[in-house]
Parts: sequence; structure tokens; C-alpha cells
Amino acid sequence: MTDWQGKNVTVAGLGVSGVPAAKVLHGLGARVTVVNDGDDERARAQAEKLQALGIAVRLGDGDSLPDGTELIVTAPGWKPDKALFRAAEKADVPVWGDVELAWRLRDHGGRTPAPWLAVTGTNGKTTTVQMLASILKAAGLRTAAVGNIGVSLLDAVLGEETYDVLAVELSSYQLHWAPSLRAHSAAVLNLAPDHLDWHGSMEAYAADKGRIYEGNRIACVYNAADKATEDLVREADVEEGCRAIGFTLGTPAPSQLGVVDGILVDRAFVPNRQKNAQELAEVADIRPPAPHNIANALAAAALARAYGVPAAAVREGLRAFTPDAHRIAHVADLDGVAYVDDSKATNTHAAQASLASYESIVWIAGGLAKGATFDELVAGAAGRLRGVVLIGADRGLIRDALARHAPEVPVVDLDRTDTGAMLQAVQEAKRLARAGDTVLLAPACASMDMFVNYNQRGDAFAAAVRELAAR
Ligand code: ADP
Repeated sequence: MTDWQGKNVTVAGLGVSGVPAAKVLHGLGARVTVVNDGDDERARAQAEKLQALGIAVRLGDGDSLPDGTELIVTAPGWKPDKALFRAAEKADVPVWGDVELAWRLRDHGGRTPAPWLAVTGTNGKTTTVQMLASILKAAGLRTAAVGNIGVSLLDAVLGEETYDVLAVELSSYQLHWAPSLRAHSAAVLNLAPDHLDWHGSMEAYAADKGRIYEGNRIACVYNAADKATEDLVREADVEEGCRAIGFTLGTPAPSQLGVVDGILVDRAFVPNRQKNAQELAEVADIRPPAPHNIANALAAAALARAYGVPAAAVREGLRAFTPDAHRIAHVADLDGVAYVDDSKATNTHAAQASLASYESIVWIAGGLAKGATFDELVAGAAGRLRGVVLIGADRGLIRDALARHAPEVPVVDLDRTDTGAMLQAVQEAKRLARAGDTVLLAPACASMDMFVNYNQRGDAFAAAVRELAAR
């Protein structure tokens, strides 16, 4: 256990993870200095609050290592190639992220730590962790969805509430900075290029995701349709007896969970000789029953089963689950056309899953591309597109891909990046759609060129649909 009294800790970043980390470390008796790149009004207001507690803050100085630093606790988003971390490496100062800090504090004050069931992947993390928490609750366990969502990890390990087991969502950034994390069991849902500007390469991104399997005790859950996730299991150094468990949308092999005739089936966690498969739930129990979401449910079920949850609780938990807003959310039906908000499809991999869920689509897309290319996405979806409406800064990239792979599909290119463009986009989509179609907002891009975040983008879409409905 770390002796925090008088330890010189530098907290990097005054954001959602830095401020609570600074307070916790200060409370443990550490001498805390917070460093932050920005020096704006918000940062100054935060700094004042921390300074009032006796915590030192340096604004506009996120790159120099304060003298005497023994440990850095960083916000997960800070890039590994920052000068601060290069200086730390030279001085042999360890760097932890917020997840590492929570992991190290999990038995603080003599607590019995709750095991972590951890989830990462390019897409589907939040949904899967919420499904998992719902299943664990249905089994009567004290649990919470924590990490990137819901309760913060520090609160979960140090707060009043105690848990039997935690359903933990971890981003690739968080995993990068969590070298000693050892989960009970973990899942990598899928792996597609994202955040490569941060990690430097696909290999580095995959390696950071793969850390989630390191030291697993019971099960490493992988996606049988995504070989890269299976490769990560193979490369991981796990505890003896830890099993590789696959999930598939098809018939499961032994040691897999899968789907047979509309039923989710477990062939991994069945007692020997009793039977060779356990029925868990029906596809119809899952909302929405789109293929990628069934995969999420199988991953959640696999982690729950690894923890020993009975089949009945898997079903009850999946039935009780309702997806978060802006994830394939059905907004309304107008003139036989369904309007669906998947604003959270902020990259091409997510949009691909979304587009694969419908037969005939008027697709609203565009925004900030984050370095992505759109050829594969557009080529795969071309046969299902009734029409496309493009918005946002990087819409030209999608327009060009459409010209290459779907030249016959009508495209409305809205040369607008103002918030009001969404109403016009929905109007255009309505004009293109025929009864039986789906108007799908699945932008395949980030939202910040036009909106504060994907929530605001999805809200604007829903408001536009409602406005058309009222006319
Ligand atoms: P994350 O937390 O990883 O961002 P979410 O559960 O919030 O994932 O889902 C984000 C978006 O990704 C959804 O709106 C949907 O478009 C897509 N998505 C969800 N699950 C999957 C999956 N298993 N594979 C591909 N795309 C997915």
C-alpha cells in the first residue's frame, strides 16, 4: 500500500478526472500540485476552489515537471508524447491515470475490494456496461456502471456505497495509463481505427486496448467475428486457468456464447456433463434488436456468466435494460417513415453497424471526420441507401466516397455548419424518403464543428422531427 503522507504528487489536468483526483490525494495527505495547459476563465475558477483547500495549481504550464514530483496522476486524454511525460520518464517518475489511481486505492482503509468486470472496444462500451450492470442487479448483486460513465471510479472505490462487483467501462486512453489493473474478467468488443492521432498507430491503439486482458483471472471475452480481439487475448499474460470466451452472432462453438434460432445460448459456462448449452434469453428481449446490439448483449452476458450469474438473471437484466439516448433511438414515425437518432455513431465503425440495421435508408451524415476515410462504409451501405443528406465541415469526404461507390444515390449536400442546418437536413430527408424507409442520423463523424456534443446534435434532430410532425 502506498504511504501518501507528504508524497509529492503532480496531477495533470484540471478537468473531470483531475479535480476529484487532486481532492482525493490531498485528503490522503499527499502534497498535490495541479498543472494545466489552459489558463481560461473556467480553469481559473476551478483553480481558486482547489487553492482554497491548500492545493497548489499552475495554470498555463502543463509541460514542466514540478521539482520533487514523485508521481504524476494524469487525465486520461493527455497524450503520451507530451513534454511533461518525457520529462517524467527521464526522471524515472511513474505516471498513473485516474483508473490506475482508483485501482490502487480499491482496498484503501481495509476495504474488501469489489472485483472489476471490464469492457473496452471501439464501439458499444457504454451500452454493454449498462447491460452488464442491469444483469448483475437482476442477480441481486450490489453493483454500478462505472468508469467512462455513471459513477466515477474514484467514487466507486472510496465512496459511502459498497459494491459486490463493478461493471467498468474503460477507454483506450484510460487503459494506456493503467499498467497494474487486473480485472476479474474483461471484454474487447471490437477493434477499428479510432483516436489514431492520440495513440500514434493502429498497433499502439490495439496494444492499449489489449491491456484490459492483462492478469485476468477468470475470462477474457473476445468477439469471434473480429480476429483482432482474439489476437489480443492470445498475446495477453493472464492468470493460470483464465479462459478465452468468444461471442458470435452465429451458432456458438464450445467455449462460446452465440445465437441459435433467435435464442442467446451459452456453451462456455455450463456445468460439465449436465448439458452442452444453456439458453439465456431471446433476441426479442434486447432493445434495439440490431445485430451489433445483440453482440453487446452477448458480451455482457459472457462477463456476467464468468462471474457466476444464473441464466434467469441474464434474461431479466437484458429485459430491464433501456439504451441511453442518441443510440439508435426511435424518435417518431411520420407518413410510414421511421426517424432514428444514432447521433452517438461518431465514427465509421459505429455508423456501419447502424446502417446495417435497416433495409432502406435516407442517411443524414457528416461532421468532423477525425482523419477517417469513408470508402468502405459507403461501399458497404450503397445498396441500402435511398438517399443521403450531408451536413458539417468534412461532408466533402463522404460526398466523394458516395460519388465513387454509390453514384446513383441522390445526395443533398447542405453547405451549412450552423446548428439550424439540422432542420433543413431533416426536411430534405423527409422529401427523399418513401413509406417503409428509415431516416437515420448516423453521422460517422464527431459533432463539434456544429454542436457542443453528440447529445446536442441528437436533440436538434429530434426537435426537427417533432417540428415536421407538428406541421
Ligand atoms: P461507446 O461507449 O463505445 O462509444 P456506445 O454504447 O455509446 O459505445 O455506442 C456508440 C455507438 O456505436 C452507437 O450509437 C452505435 O451506433 C454504435 N455501436 C454500439 N455497439 C456497437 C458494436 N458492438 N459494434 C459497432 N457499433 C456499435
